[in-house]
Amino acid sequence: MSEDVIEKKEKIELIITILFGWLGIHKFIDKQYGLGLVYFFSLGLFGIGWIYDICACVYYSSDSFKLIKNSIKENTKKCNELNDHIEELKNTYADIKRIDYGTANYYDNSNWNYKRPALKKYQEAKNVYNCSRTVCSNARMQPFKYICKYFNIKATEENLEKFENVLNDFDAAEQGKSLLKNERDEIVNSVSDKIPIWIKLFNRTNMIKKLGFNSIDFSQLYFPRYTFNYISSGGNSSMQCSIVFDIENLNKFVEYLSSIIKFKKSAAGQRALMTSKLREQIKKRDNYTCCKCGNSIEKEPNLLLEIDHIIPISKNGLTTESNLQTLCWKCNRKKGSKLDDSETN
Ligand SMILES: [Zn+2]
Repeated sequence: MSEDVIEKKEKIELIITILFGWLGIHKFIDKQYGLGLVYFFSLGLFGIGWIYDICACVYYSSDSFKLIKNSIKENTKKCNELNDHIEELKNTYADIKRIDYGTANYYDNSNWNYKRPALKKYQEAKNVYNCSRTVCSNARMQPFKYICKYFNIKATEENLEKFENVLNDFDAAEQGKSLLKNERDEIVNSVSDKIPIWIKLFNRTNMIKKLGFNSIDFSQLYFPRYTFNYISSGGNSSMQCSIVFDIENLNKFVEYLSSIIKFKKSAAGQRALMTSKLREQIKKRDNYTCCKCGNSIEKEPNLLLEIDHIIPISKNGLTTESNLQTLCWKCNRKKGSKLDDSETN
């Protein structure tokens, strides 16, 4: 919960408290004791919640809590850095350029009583193709083929590399989230016996936040979604087919694109495909150890490992097992930013 939401919640609680108190008193004056008691009972329940919130607030600003927070400062900082990195990884898909068809003004002055709000919603959404009923139902049978055709994704080496890159980063983001949660829980557990039980039990989410951890976003809504949408002209019947590019579908899509490229031009098919399976193979080959700093899963069980092209693709490096290495997320990020610098210089 964000801070202004909490503030709003407190204001609402205050208003309800006053309202229930006022109603209760009135019922007693009117000699409706039963109803009056119900109001006072509800007020009591609210009061308990209220007193608890105040006590928690006092505890979080106490010196003993600040001391605990300080003792894990370095660790929370590391976790928050990883959290930021995971959020960055999720943005990789944004690099895939869509065709800009331009913008036009459009007015619909028809007086028909169309049931069209749904149509309008989907017309403006991203990656939605408004199509005929036939296209929509065919897309369900061969989703990748229809996505390539109607969303203009050409089966080229360049696009294949882009989607491999997206898969690579999404894979790391998904692994990173659970590793980060483990790491965070271990840190919280290490100071858990110093924190009073009434905080640990009833206020855990807030406690983690007050300890300095940014919240981890576990939602998978960032996976790109392609939708085929059919609405009849009157708006009475509709059909929708949507395909989410999650890890499983991305793996399949990368293989699908490569199979078309191989079919077209056999030389391009000589390199390895950067799938989740290959990532795991490389990590295993490198003994789950970072090739740069030597940190490993053995030393740090929640370490996020990523796969790096030794000679980057932008410098004509290929996806071959000999050009791939395991790096920890920190070394990989350092290498990435160094490359960016050298490219801009
Ligand atoms: Zn490293």
